[in-house]
Amino acid sequence: MSELSRGPELMEKIVSLCKRRGFVYPGSEIYGGLANSWDYGPLGVELKNNIKQMWWKMFVQRRADMVGIDAALLMNPKVWEATGHVATFCDPLVECGFCHARSRADHVKTMSKMTEGFGDFINEYWRDPVGTAKAKPEFLMNTSWTCPTCGKGNELSKTAPRQFNMMLKTWLGPVEDQTAVVYLRPETAQAMFVDFKNILETSRRRLPFGAAQIGKAFRNEITPGNFIFRQREFEQMEIEYFIKPEEWETHFEHWVGELKKWLKLIGVKEDRLHYVDISDEDRAFYSKRTVDVEYDYPFGQKELYGLAYRTDYDLSKHEQFSGAELKFADPENQANKIVPHVIEPSFGVDRTILVALLEAYDEEITDEEIRIVMRFPYWMAPVKVAILPLSKKEELSVPAKEVAQMLREADLTVEYDETQSIGKRYRRQDEIGTPLCVTFDFDSLEDKAVTIRDRDTMEQVRVPISELVVEIRNRLV
Ligand code: ATP
Repeated sequence: MSELSRGPELMEKIVSLCKRRGFVYPGSEIYGGLANSWDYGPLGVELKNNIKQMWWKMFVQRRADMVGIDAALLMNPKVWEATGHVATFCDPLVECGFCHARSRADHVKTMSKMTEGFGDFINEYWRDPVGTAKAKPEFLMNTSWTCPTCGKGNELSKTAPRQFNMMLKTWLGPVEDQTAVVYLRPETAQAMFVDFKNILETSRRRLPFGAAQIGKAFRNEITPGNFIFRQREFEQMEIEYFIKPEEWETHFEHWVGELKKWLKLIGVKEDRLHYVDISDEDRAFYSKRTVDVEYDYPFGQKELYGLAYRTDYDLSKHEQFSGAELKFADPENQANKIVPHVIEPSFGVDRTILVALLEAYDEEITDEEIRIVMRFPYWMAPVKVAILPLSKKEELSVPAKEVAQMLREADLTVEYDETQSIGKRYRRQDEIGTPLCVTFDFDSLEDKAVTIRDRDTMEQVRVPISELVVEIRNRLV
């Protein structure tokens, strides 16, 4: 493998490859786009589906203690009152006095040497918006501010931070008044709590057990960006694992281990991962322990996934606000009831895809040209096999298309490509990470065999067409 720079140019290469080959495009592009919305194209949707399916297999279908749900996106607005989202799901927002762009007040650059003295002045004389002397908020400590949009400004040229609720609102039914307001869910997690009683009754589980869901979530992020890293519409894969409170530490450790296994499966290099224990003051008040899994993106070390011990906060709040009993009764002694505690591993689908793309990207210089290879794990690759006849002539293309169709019917994702030289066609497949290329040549007409070429080893082997499906399946595991 070549030495590849992992700086911002890697991000540019990924974004350009995604557009060029149909992984991810800007949303609504022909209308000038819609800020920071992205569409997954033909290859992107296959990649995304493979990731979601593997996650579902690993965390739901292959475990005896897990069940899945798929809840409605719009939930009763009381859900978000109970959880505190209506009151507190806010980010601090500031407005630049020069260009009036809005940005997140907690995303500030560390003070540079040049502004150090000025920062001290601010630390000393900071006043809250109404002018009373008040302790400076943590996020302004030892920092100086420049506008991320125009690059100008300082602590005094921006507005005081104000809280901005990140839930997206809409109205249900024909009347657009306060009584019709509903929110697009800002996380998938709450459905597992709200449906807890139904899940428990219908699946007849005992503690510990978990419920999982994959689906869209919406947040009116102040500063979306970095390609698919931070969007306003995104997808999550979340688990609520219900436990007895006294067992929380054991289960927490188990889920740290499961996160590590998953990250290995998707091919992330360990030294680019950081397991950050969130300090008491930065953690949500109801969480007794939170570990953020952070990754070294080309734009810095930032969150990939989260793992939190949320105690019985959510179920208790929903009991209080809904009046329903959300308890687990001990099967041996029905009178002994508890509100289960919960461990929540939370995965972003889009951040998983971004990390998978960054990890897979590789370049090799061969014969003065660059060979780009997406080294996806084979299970993840959007196209599994490419069928490449050596000539476009019907003599070869007709039987080669039959081989392609045979593979499609065996549930493999197949591309058929007969244009340009075989070398160019191999490059095209390498660039989208296709693990296996099958060439159909003139000898194939006689010996009823084809040549398989492996993306990573470049090894070529001759295989009878009658054994092709089995051979490919064996190689893809
Ligand atoms: P951040 O600190 O980056 O805003 P968060 O702590 O608010 O993230 P959570 O509420 O823990 O995120 O959401 C769980 C997961 O959902 C995150 O770990 C991330 O993978 C994903 N996620 C959250 N917000 C976004 C977003 N705006 N765009 C894409 N993925 C997101």
